[in-house]
Amino acid sequence: MDSRPVNLRQRRSWVAPVLIIGAGPAGLATAACLTAKSIPYLVLEREDCSGSLWKYKTYERLHLHLPKQYCQLPLFPFPASYPTYPSCEQFIVYLENYREHFGIHPVYNTKVTLVEYFSAVGYWIVTAEEKPSYNEHVKIVRYLARSVVIATGENGDPYMPSFSGEEKFTGEISHSMTYRSGEKYEGKKVLVVGVGNTGMELALDLANFGAMPTLVARSKIHIMPRDLLGVFSTFDASLKLLKIFPMWFADKILVFLSWLTLGCTDKYNLIRPAEGPLQMKKMTGHTPVLDVGTVAKIRSGHIKVKFLNLNLNHETSAFEISI
Ligand SMILES: Cc1cc2nc3c(=O)[nH]c(=O)nc-3n(C[C@H](O)[C@H](O)[C@H](O)COP(=O)(O)OP(=O)(O)OC[C@H]3O[C@@H](n4cnc5c(N)ncnc54)[C@H](O)[C@@H]3O)c2cc1C
Repeated sequence: MDSRPVNLRQRRSWVAPVLIIGAGPAGLATAACLTAKSIPYLVLEREDCSGSLWKYKTYERLHLHLPKQYCQLPLFPFPASYPTYPSCEQFIVYLENYREHFGIHPVYNTKVTLVEYFSAVGYWIVTAEEKPSYNEHVKIVRYLARSVVIATGENGDPYMPSFSGEEKFTGEISHSMTYRSGEKYEGKKVLVVGVGNTGMELALDLANFGAMPTLVARSKIHIMPRDLLGVFSTFDASLKLLKIFPMWFADKILVFLSWLTLGCTDKYNLIRPAEGPLQMKKMTGHTPVLDVGTVAKIRSGHIKVKFLNLNLNHETSAFEISI
């Protein structure tokens, strides 16, 4: 069978055996695996490049949070020269090499708006808005496919909750997706809402650039060092412990080793839930935060943490927090 990707526009055909929506890591990996099995496919991507989340929506100091062996895509490992935690830039280069290696040519600037299944013919009809260049009008394009793979990701679209009093707040409110570095915040008070991996790392970046960040946590959270005792990857250790012990016991060991590395985080308002980190992940899907230096800045007083629900209710650019 012809293993080359189907180029619909070149062939003027409307039919693809497999249609992949999204050219992020998951879409590229699917395309590579289909290539290996000589199954033709087509990738549609709304942005003008592959790996757009990593190119356009991340901050400068970002490195993979997990060791590289857990983040590499199938059939094409990371270069041996890459560090354990590759930088965002290195990951972008890797994705581009991956795309080239497997000859994947996504149709860019094509945003899928509707996917319908027509059981009578056994085909999916996929409707997309195509905007090839800035000056051109949006065209509605329809594709027919036997199978559709949705690889549109879960972190690509910002979620901006509204806060009470937000309309009166005169300071700048921005989403982490538009944050690049703390440079422009030097000397400013900045409230970072959310103590997930991103919030924790942005607070660290802000502190490094001389801003005065305050983190707002509204729920209990497990903070673990990225590397236990500074040596073993926590993620790696979790997987190994789970192979030997029941989850509750693996959790006890992880929390103990985290305590040895980071000390008690509860006293800084980073309160650990009663359930262990692996149990929490299983129950709620919430990933433990892997610390890359934020806890040390909290301990030294460069970053403050408040455990509360946020209210922005001042007619100034200062923020007021009510518990
Ligand atoms: C700050 C940050 C740090 C992270 N660190 C790590 C890490 O260390 N290790 C790790 O494994 N993961 C990490 N992640 C998670 C990361 O999201 C995933 O690893 C990876 O990017 C997911 O790949 P994906 O292809 O599923 O989704 P995405 O990378 O989000 O790709 C989805 C693609 O689909 C496209 N798309 C969306 N909707 C449409 C549509 N309607 N039509 C056409 N195209 C569409 C998007 O433009 C995008 O290119 C991190 C995420 C963030 C935000």
